[in-house]
Amino acid sequence: MYNFNAGPSTLPKEVFEEASRAILNFSNTGLSILEVGHRTPAFESVMDEARSLVRELMNLDGDHEVLFLHGGASTQFMQVPMNLLNDKEVAAYTDTGVFASKALKEAKLFGHVEVVASSKDKNYTYLPKEFHVPATAKYLHVTSNNTIYGTQWKDMSMFEKFNVPVVADMSSDVLSRDMDFNKFDLIYAGAQKNVGAAGVNLVVINKNILGKVDRVLPTMMDYRQHVDNGSMLNTPPVFAVYVCMLTLKWLKENGGVPAIEKLNNAKATLFYDTLDSLPLFKGTVEKEDRSTMNAVFVMDNKELEKEFQDRCKQEGLYGVKGHRSVGGFRVSMYNALPLESVVVITEVMKDFANKKG
Ligand code: PMP
Repeated sequence: MYNFNAGPSTLPKEVFEEASRAILNFSNTGLSILEVGHRTPAFESVMDEARSLVRELMNLDGDHEVLFLHGGASTQFMQVPMNLLNDKEVAAYTDTGVFASKALKEAKLFGHVEVVASSKDKNYTYLPKEFHVPATAKYLHVTSNNTIYGTQWKDMSMFEKFNVPVVADMSSDVLSRDMDFNKFDLIYAGAQKNVGAAGVNLVVINKNILGKVDRVLPTMMDYRQHVDNGSMLNTPPVFAVYVCMLTLKWLKENGGVPAIEKLNNAKATLFYDTLDSLPLFKGTVEKEDRSTMNAVFVMDNKELEKEFQDRCKQEGLYGVKGHRSVGGFRVSMYNALPLESVVVITEVMKDFANKKG
C-alpha cells in the first residue's frame, strides 16, 4: 500500500518494525512497552532521548523547553491562551483554515482575539501577505501548514517583523523544512504526521513567556508544571512517546531537517509538475502558497472523480480522498512518505488522464 493519508499517516518502515519488537520485549526488559512503568530507567531514557532529539534537530537554545503532552493539537488551542493571555489582553490570530479558526475560537474564551489576516473570503485557497499586528498583542498565532486546504507559509521568518511573540501550530509540517525554530516562543504539533504516533503532542516553548497571566491554572494545563517535571507530570502516553523517539531517531540518521527538506521539495516538485501538466486535474490553491505536505486538487467532472478514486483503490493508493470541506483529492507527502510513492501516484494520474482526457 502507498499511504497518502493526512494523519495519522505513514511512518518509516524501520519504526514499525522496531515498535513491533518493543511490544513483545522492550529494550531487553522481558516486558512489553505497553506494560512497563513510566518511572523506570528504561522508559525515562526514552522520554529523555525524544526530548533531546527534538532539541538537536531544531537546534534549540537554552531558553526553549521540549514537552510531550496529551490531548492532541486541539488541546493546545485552549492551553496556549490559558497560559499566555489575560482576560483584557489582545492576541492576534491568522484565520487561514479549519484548524486556524478552531484555534481562535478557543482563544476567545480567555481574552480578546483580533483576526489580523484571513483568507476565508476565497475558501482558504491562498495566504494573506500584507497585514498588520498591533504592538500590544500578547502574541501572534499562525498555522504554518493548513492541512485541509493545502496552503503553507513559505517564509516563516516574515512574522518576526511584528515584534510580538510568535506561536505556531506546526502540526502538519513540523520538522519538514529548515527554519530558525528559536524565533518562535511556542510551537505545537500533534505527533501523528511528521513526529510519530497519534496520542501525543510536541510542544516547544520559550520559558521566558510563562508565568505572566493572572488566572489560576489547573495543574495539567500549566506549562510550567510540565517543564518543572521533565514532561513527566503524570503518566505520559508511553507507547506514543516511544514511537516519536524512534521516528526522530530515524530523521536524525537520515540527515536531519535539511536532508528531509530536500526530499520533501523533490516530492512536491514532482507532484505539482505532474498536476500542472494534466488539464484533467486542477489544483485548488494559489501556486505560490502550495503546501509541500498536502496537495489538494479536484476535477470538473464528478463522475471522473469517482472513477479516479476507484482507480487509486485498485492501485493500492490509500488516503487520497479530499476533506469533505474541499472535496476532490488530497495527497499528503509527509516526511516518511518515500519518493517512490509519489512516482507511483503521478504515473497513475498520467495514465488515467491519457485514457480519459
Ligand atoms: N492543527 C492542524 C494544522 C492539524 O492538521 C490538526 C489535525 N490534523 C490539528 C491542529 C488538530 O490535531 P488533533 O487532532 O491532534 O487535535
